Amino acid sequence: MNYDIVIAGCGFTGTVIAFKSAMEGKRVLIVEKRNHIAGNMYDYIDEAGICVQKYGPHSFHTNNEEVYEFITQIGDWYEYILRARVMIDGKYTPSPFNFKTIDQYYPAPKAEILKQALVEYYNSAKKVTVVELLESDNELIREYANFLFEKDYRPYTAKQWGIAPEELDISILKRVPVRLDYTDGYFDDKYQLMPEGGFTSFFEKMLSNPLIDIRLNCDVLDLVEIDGNNIIFENELLNVPFVYTGPLDELFRYKYGKLPYRSLKFDMQIHNVDSYQETSGVAYPMAEGYTRITEYKKIPVQDIKGKTTIAVEYPVTYGTEEGKEPYYPILTENSKEMYKRYCELASKVNRLYVCGRLGDFKYYNMDDAVLRALEVYEDIRKTY
Ligand SMILES: Cc1cc2nc3c(=O)[nH]c(=O)nc-3n(C[C@H](O)[C@H](O)[C@H](O)COP(=O)(O)OP(=O)(O)OC[C@H]3O[C@@H](n4cnc5c(N)ncnc54)[C@H](O)[C@@H]3O)c2cc1C
Repeated sequence: MNYDIVIAGCGFTGTVIAFKSAMEGKRVLIVEKRNHIAGNMYDYIDEAGICVQKYGPHSFHTNNEEVYEFITQIGDWYEYILRARVMIDGKYTPSPFNFKTIDQYYPAPKAEILKQALVEYYNSAKKVTVVELLESDNELIREYANFLFEKDYRPYTAKQWGIAPEELDISILKRVPVRLDYTDGYFDDKYQLMPEGGFTSFFEKMLSNPLIDIRLNCDVLDLVEIDGNNIIFENELLNVPFVYTGPLDELFRYKYGKLPYRSLKFDMQIHNVDSYQETSGVAYPMAEGYTRITEYKKIPVQDIKGKTTIAVEYPVTYGTEEGKEPYYPILTENSKEMYKRYCELASKVNRLYVCGRLGDFKYYNMDDAVLRALEVYEDIRKTY
């Protein structure tokens, strides 16, 4: 073995570990099954000359100083405040909903009473969850909550997770915020950023160290076998750390069954107009089949006239012809139990480090993925 570490997956997690290892003089091999680097952050210029993101819209946001320091030491970033909208009854309203939403859908006198009631009831809090609104004992607040629930959360969530609206467990909305002022912005994080030149270019910088070799179009499962406590790599016992950022059930050849995911299909379309919709991301809860449309020339802002590229986003079943990518883990008692059993197997394998959104079977924002990678790297470092 000519390498000091082998990493499966060239997304944020694998790339951060590769970068850190190479900085300390380690020889790194990355094995990536796709034909490109950058994982789900991969972007490219399409036929309309617009930078688009193949696996859905990504903008970076974090409150974590360590993550901020890490990413800004590698490349240049600029501030990008993501604003998003929801289309309800033919009107764009802010996402998360804010007081403008109330002004848009309520007659003025009633809107004033409702806004006042919200400020008083929640002691001037900046935001609450929709579940808290639904559980309020103030009738007017509950009426507003039901309006939002029926027009947006219920149809949107049912489509997103592929369940009938009646089956919807409202507890999955526990973290969805509703703003109690006029703040217009999707995230509240201190740092909201986009990389200068795009994500793929940022990844190229992270991977530019000559100590890093990358094998694209290569499924690590064709090279690796778990033999009891050992990892066999290309028919030889692997005696260096092996970082695996793919799905854990695949590594163990589905021994305990398949972990469930929700997938997405993106229908990319080029339109001969300057602008297609009000913001880069708009949710369409009432639309048939699709949940969201992203207009890429607005994320990042690109000065291109007469053309625009949109991606219409359809949630689909994972493991089907149209649902090839595992996007969102479906967390149920069963799936969590199955994942735990896989983790028990993984913990017995020497030099195996499982991480990333797939390895950890968790939804991670990019900053969570970076932080987790930095943590795992520290563990690996102790063994060098
Ligand atoms: C639609 C969507 C929008 C998102 N938007 C945002 C956003 O705006 N902001 C934000 O912070 N986060 C966002 N995220 C989350 C973000 O995508 C993740 O945080 C990020 O992908 C985590 O990086 P990762 O390296 O763990 O996983 P990935 O980026 O998925 O990388 C894993 C890599 O491993 C490779 N791999 C898997 N199996 C194998 C194998 N057997 N052999 C070789 N290679 C393998 C995969 O091909 C992939 O390239 C979004 C997620 C989705 C689904």
